[in-house]
Amino acid sequence: MKKLTKKLTHSCSLDCYDLCKFDVYKKGDRVTKITGNSENSFTKGIICSKGRKHIDRLYHKDRLKTPLLKKDGRWEEISFDEALEIIGDRLKKYRSEYGSQSVLHYEESGAGGVLKGIENIFFNYYGGITTSEGSTCWGAGSQAQNYDFGDRRSSDLEDVMNAEAIVLWGRNPYNTSIHLYERLIAAKKKGIKIITIDPRENETSRISDIHISPNPSTDGALAMAVAKYLMDQGRIDEEYTERYIHGYSEYKSYLEGLSMDYLLEETGVSLDEVENLAEVMAKGTVSCFLGYGMQKYTNGGNSIRAIDALFSLSGNIGVEGAGVFYANRVYPKLLNTDPYGSEKYAVNSRDFWVADFVGYVNKMAGDVKKPVKAIFVSKANPMNQYPNLNESIEAFKKVEFKVCIDMFMTDTAKYCDLVIPCTNTLESEDIIYTSMHSPYLLYNEKIVEPPHELMDEYFFFQELAKKMEMEDYPQVDKKTYIEKVIEPVGLTIEDLRKKDINLSDSRVAWDDMKFPTASGKVEVYSEDAKREGLSALPEYIPSLKKTEDYPIRLITPHFKNSLFSQHYREHSGISRLYVGEGNLKGYREGDVVKLTSKYGGIECSIHLDKTLKDDLVYMYAGWNHKHGNPNFLTYNGSSEMGGQVSYYDTFVNISSK
Ligand code: SF4
Repeated sequence: MKKLTKKLTHSCSLDCYDLCKFDVYKKGDRVTKITGNSENSFTKGIICSKGRKHIDRLYHKDRLKTPLLKKDGRWEEISFDEALEIIGDRLKKYRSEYGSQSVLHYEESGAGGVLKGIENIFFNYYGGITTSEGSTCWGAGSQAQNYDFGDRRSSDLEDVMNAEAIVLWGRNPYNTSIHLYERLIAAKKKGIKIITIDPRENETSRISDIHISPNPSTDGALAMAVAKYLMDQGRIDEEYTERYIHGYSEYKSYLEGLSMDYLLEETGVSLDEVENLAEVMAKGTVSCFLGYGMQKYTNGGNSIRAIDALFSLSGNIGVEGAGVFYANRVYPKLLNTDPYGSEKYAVNSRDFWVADFVGYVNKMAGDVKKPVKAIFVSKANPMNQYPNLNESIEAFKKVEFKVCIDMFMTDTAKYCDLVIPCTNTLESEDIIYTSMHSPYLLYNEKIVEPPHELMDEYFFFQELAKKMEMEDYPQVDKKTYIEKVIEPVGLTIEDLRKKDINLSDSRVAWDDMKFPTASGKVEVYSEDAKREGLSALPEYIPSLKKTEDYPIRLITPHFKNSLFSQHYREHSGISRLYVGEGNLKGYREGDVVKLTSKYGGIECSIHLDKTLKDDLVYMYAGWNHKHGNPNFLTYNGSSEMGGQVSYYDTFVNISSK
């Protein structure tokens, strides 16, 4: 007789704004269905295809279940015991001969969860290692908001229904945040104006009332043009700015020195469009959702700072229906993410800037005194996601011993010496939160058993700690560990099972108008930025420009059906390039062309997006090497703040293959 379907709770471990809560159904020992939990106020019963695909990935035929060791260029299956022995011996040797920082660990957010990140705790006990600074994702914008507001906060999603207008600035929630998109549809029905600001038309701009299309990398100039217009028209409440904004008069002087004609020419936006946007800003409460693409330029941090300044000066901060939302970092005050005090053991830490991976590793792999001898990769696929992949791969290969922890043989795993298989989220008990938007702390119960207990990183690193004779390493069960993490919230796992915990202390971000900055105000003028060698005020410095050989800018936004490279493995065929009519030239839809930049070339198929101007093309991020990955072309420069890789300052040309 068939066993009954059982409903369990879990949440999505993908690196997404929404952190959906799932209802998971099982028949016997097999997961049969994932749906959105309808009681969670963010999820409201809706999830996207990536969330449902956790099941496909769980039962995928290509999933790794045994550690793989590369021998003479071929993979050989080994046992977990052998893998632990090899890693343990290497780690001991490198630490005693070169110091613990000779091990470089690169992690990302490919799988969320506090216990999925246990390797960080392990490496602290190891003595401290080399870790990354900066970001492939959101670094410039994060740093910008730290300067301006002292932190990154977002209002409750439902608060957009109190707005008079909603601005999607460089953000396409149709692809990246389905719950925001669903609210936009509801807001539109209520008569709330929707405005998209994006150099290309996208699914969200198509449902918007207004679409403003600035030239790529000029979002800061556009925000300045609107602020300047408001100042020139006497539409700024100077009593308000005096009370809440540090540096208004300095910024006003700076904008007086910029001509409107210059700003319009840079942005390619008309004065009418600037005036219309300024009227919206001045009249009503406006919520703005910032995307991460617009800060992937050498001037990306200043773009976010200029937008923050515009929303602050126009009074669109700290009130219902208004705000400028980039992320929502609500957990650090509330959770103890290092409950056994591992940090004090990490005495030999050092770091490298992600954008400078090539330079750093080329230098340090052969360093006599303090070399990089090993690389550990977890929850990440850097040989797919790093810029300038030709050089990144060569640098990666130079390092003596490389280990990757993953569910699949990824573009990174294939360049490693040892690959350790890990659990799918559904096989692992954990707690999870996101810093992107959803404010919830959710408990993930283990839904099914993994093929091997040590595929769960928590237990793997406990065993490794035993091999390494780390006496103080927390050899406690998961529940004990989790309860210590959540102790400051005054809750137990049982509480989390019964109720989703909203970690945010306020429905409206910054509603007390108290900011954790030096002045306690919004800092349009930031002493912190100045101390770090940057302009204290947001400034407009044009980003890189096209060259004669490479006249077209390439951007790589997010695809709806994949989180970076994770869900692309199913795609067959070749990667897709989208171009406007001018760049389709004599090609037919689907023709294979060669796309070349200063850093390399790939083949891809060409497709028409009629809305694109001739100086811009795009490919979605995440295509695997086998398809033609755009990061073989991308520029490994950095934003001016936050160490963000400036991927979007890549210029290409298109030719016949
Ligand atoms: S990827 Fe995002 S929207 Fe999709 S299920 Fe996961 S958390 Fe929800």
